[in-house]
Amino acid sequence: MKKAIFPGSFDPITLGHFDIIERGVTLFDELIIAIGINADKKYMFSLEERKAFIENTFAHEPKIKVVTYSGLTVNFCKEQNAQFILRGLRNPADFEFEKAIAHTNRKLSEIETVFLLTSSGKSYISSSIVRDVIRNNGDYTGLVPKAVRI
Ligand code: ADP
Repeated sequence: MKKAIFPGSFDPITLGHFDIIERGVTLFDELIIAIGINADKKYMFSLEERKAFIENTFAHEPKIKVVTYSGLTVNFCKEQNAQFILRGLRNPADFEFEKAIAHTNRKLSEIETVFLLTSSGKSYISSSIVRDVIRNNGDYTGLVPKAVRI
């Protein structure tokens, strides 16, 4: 059984994440969306809210599970018996950043990272831009799945 983890902060989930998840799920038997808990990070949405946004978005998709985790992603993959990490690539900066993480993860474990390029038209979307739009009372509805209700 091919099992992948899609790790991230998802603060909140965006249409960019949605695109990678919808396309990524076709490659695996199970896709676990794993919300990382980082005690040093300040989030706009609580863990419960972030989890609920994702669960409601993919309620119709039995191959997708949503969980939270802390610690190293490769350790979490081992716990879950997942052989793959799924990541999205938006631009060269993402590539450089992701390359270092993927090499480190390979050094630490057997886990393979699978990258999908963002669909055209989605590459400018990031959670941090969405948070900025929300903070400044802008219309964020075209940037996030419908389940993200504030
Ligand atoms: P992190 O805190 O690890 O950066 P994010 O929640 O921001 O987590 O992102 C998780 C994953 O989703 C990363 O692989 C990131 O590159 C990808 N991602 C985020 N936004 C987009 C987008 N617009 N298109 C494609 N992938 C994206």
